[in-house]
Amino acid sequence: MKVVIIGASFAGVSAALAIRKKHPKAEIHLIDKQQTIGYLPGGINLYFNETIGPIETAQFISEEQLVDNGISLLLNAEVVSMDSKQRIIKYEKQESDFFMSFDKLILATGSSQWSQKILGSDSEKVLKYKFLQGVVNAIERLENSNTVALIGGGQIGGEAADTLLKKGKEVHLFERMDYLLFKYFDEEMIRPVQAEMSARGVIFHFNETVEKVTDTGKALLIETKKSQLLCDSAIFAMNVRPDLRYLDEQIQKHTDQTVFVNEYLQTSQEDIFAIGDCIQVPYSLSKESFYIPLVNNAVRTGLVVAQNLVEPTTPFVGSIRTIGTKLVDYYVASTGLTEAEGLFHEQPISVTHVHQRSSLFSGNEKVSGKIIFEKDSHKILGAQLVSKANILEKINTLALGIQMGQTLEEFYQKDFLYHPYYSSVIDITNQLGFEGLWSEADEN
Ligand code: FAD
Repeated sequence: MKVVIIGASFAGVSAALAIRKKHPKAEIHLIDKQQTIGYLPGGINLYFNETIGPIETAQFISEEQLVDNGISLLLNAEVVSMDSKQRIIKYEKQESDFFMSFDKLILATGSSQWSQKILGSDSEKVLKYKFLQGVVNAIERLENSNTVALIGGGQIGGEAADTLLKKGKEVHLFERMDYLLFKYFDEEMIRPVQAEMSARGVIFHFNETVEKVTDTGKALLIETKKSQLLCDSAIFAMNVRPDLRYLDEQIQKHTDQTVFVNEYLQTSQEDIFAIGDCIQVPYSLSKESFYIPLVNNAVRTGLVVAQNLVEPTTPFVGSIRTIGTKLVDYYVASTGLTEAEGLFHEQPISVTHVHQRSSLFSGNEKVSGKIIFEKDSHKILGAQLVSKANILEKINTLALGIQMGQTLEEFYQKDFLYHPYYSSVIDITNQLGFEGLWSEADEN
């Protein structure tokens, strides 16, 4: 079996390694247009925060590791077209054209940062650092910039603001909504984080959509309906999108240009699959699917596709959009539905807040938690955690409970570890379930 995977990032690499395990004799080819593989998109923050040395070391896998697994790696090769009926792809390498046949093809070409809506956002002073080449350019420009505009207040924008503050830059953050990280948090949860960022110098431009960026030669002019700002560089911190110009017409797409796949990650062509950032994923809390470009979805779809390559056996369970990060001194994490999104949920929802100390002896920081659940069935739908203690891993417990369809009753009595130094008497995740239950009783 000859398996060709286009795209050697999180999704493609995880698929290649899983296929190697499941099909030890398969011939596996991994093709990428980049010159190197495995760059971590958040690497720029690790570099500026001096967590790593050279930026090239922000890498999750090396070429050697893939080659050691018997995977043939073809870099600097861009797939430009395909014929799904003839089972052949065409790629360009060093200005020459080549063809490769396949028995099974996996599309793992991910996404990149581009916008047709913001005029001038393709300027090289509007920094995009999903890939290594972009990050090298971004590092040089940011070192020489005093004023930086961030376009987008999601995870990329929030993390960039934090990093640039520490570098002593003047930071302006533009966000069309009225608070940071709105996809993942309700406003009251993120308010203390935002207040601390403001106090440290971030200038927020909420309710402002950037419409145009003009390179004046010496500076960049950022324009919204409400304001104009001259800055030295800008960071493109908005949604990523797939770029699938190489597909032929046999491969069906959604209107947002993601590849259509069934629950087994199969495209409209039987032996062609798609994974990672180039597909929508089923949202585990409704019957819909959404575009949720996250590493965890890329890696998991890579693992699942290996199971389905020969026979469709394993449906992809979907995503509940679990994220976590650190902004200023706060660790913030979220999974599932927010209260704001609950308006669109098919059942009425309730929410409860909990405030707890992280542990009596190691830090004793306040932990704020919020749980969102169905009012009648008590099924848990979402949770958010914010604390100066590192609570990031706890969101995974909440995510698992939600993914398993657990109710408050099941969740508050789940097992947890207790240690006098490291933990609280009752874990915040159990406490959230418990308080949720009793908040309902109090109301009645
Ligand atoms: P990609 O990583 O996009 O990789 C696709 C690969 O395909 C690329 O290597 C590309 O060169 C190659 N390719 C594309 N077209 C072709 C072609 N025609 N021929 C050959 N090769 C091709 N997610 C998180 O979960 N946590 C984070 O902290 C996080 N931080 C991020 C920070 C930034 C700045 C950005 C931009 C994104 C971040 N993300 C994060 C999102 C995350 O990067 C993506 O979800 C993830 O990279 C998707 O992996 P993928 O393998 O599907 O695709």
